[in-house]
Amino acid sequence: MIPLRIKVEANADQPFVVRLRSFEADGREQKTEQLNPFDVALERVGPEGADYVGEGGPIRILGIDPAKVDGDVLLVNPWRGTADRLIRSSSLHNTFLVTERCDQVCLMCSQPPKKHHVDLFTYFETAALLAPEGATIGISGGEPTLFKAQLFELLRRVLDARADLSFHVLTNGQHFEEGDWHAMNLIDRGRVVWGIPLYSRDPAVHDQIVGKEGAHTQLLKNLALLCCLGAQVELRTVLMHPNADGLPSLARFITSRLPFIRTWALMQMENIGFGRMNWKDLFYDSSEGFDVVGRSLDLVRSRGIDAWLYNFPLCTVPEGYRHLAPATISDWKRAYRDECDGCSLKAVCGGFFDWHPANHGYSNLGAIQ
Ligand code: SF4
Repeated sequence: MIPLRIKVEANADQPFVVRLRSFEADGREQKTEQLNPFDVALERVGPEGADYVGEGGPIRILGIDPAKVDGDVLLVNPWRGTADRLIRSSSLHNTFLVTERCDQVCLMCSQPPKKHHVDLFTYFETAALLAPEGATIGISGGEPTLFKAQLFELLRRVLDARADLSFHVLTNGQHFEEGDWHAMNLIDRGRVVWGIPLYSRDPAVHDQIVGKEGAHTQLLKNLALLCCLGAQVELRTVLMHPNADGLPSLARFITSRLPFIRTWALMQMENIGFGRMNWKDLFYDSSEGFDVVGRSLDLVRSRGIDAWLYNFPLCTVPEGYRHLAPATISDWKRAYRDECDGCSLKAVCGGFFDWHPANHGYSNLGAIQ
């Protein structure tokens, strides 16, 4: 798996953000010219690590090839001797986890909430401003809109400063309100997609899945508000036993009541966090029961709304629907199994979450010749 945290040595008393520049050996003056104040340039590589220098002082990274981290933006924690790779320059899957707090307790949550919160928004803003040209940056939690003042401000400032960047924000959609109108109107809505889960047409089923009474009602109210604001909404539905039968009903509801959404994403589960605890009760084997999925996708797409399958291994999807199943699992979470050896679709298939269990899951999968 791709490491998101690396070891560092830095002589500082506070966390800080840097961008690594692993230039080929060339003149020091040229390096200096190309650096901005958050850049550190590779000075020397030795058995003890790779040494970088910049305006903020020296930093050494350990245990990773400097060529693999060129352009990466790190949040360095000098006390712990670690750095989080907030932006990996070669990846399309960079996400800021802005909080671990949440007001829902979803049955399949991959990142179970914690009470503790450390405000790192300033560091995230600096990191976003150092992102490669044209990047889309993910924001997730926890529930990011529990800190919506900081979130809106981060979005506004970064998008104002960098016309090439965009954001994808995962939110439970519970906390938008009319009072946010002004702050949200200052954000370039064309460059922010809000990924919001809706699990069922039936309020009782949705509320039971997210562990919060009244969540469905609040969500529909807030989706209407986002519609009025012209926000781009990617509606997300994780497929599970409790909501699988109701999928066609949800599809009808989307076409009649939520036609303004930009995308409907039907998603397979992730076997981690609460998802692992509840896997046996929740996991829906779509390789056996695809009919309900296919009918729902067909209905929504027939009304001109984009609908996609996220996190579905291609061999578990009937051939006629495979073009709707892009490789969505983040590069650092992605793995392939022994069954994938020799598969002709491997280059375009997203495979499995690294933690997908070998002994429980799809009954029909295997290399496509
Ligand atoms: S065998 Fe592996 S690579 Fe091929 S389609 Fe299935 S999951 Fe994807």
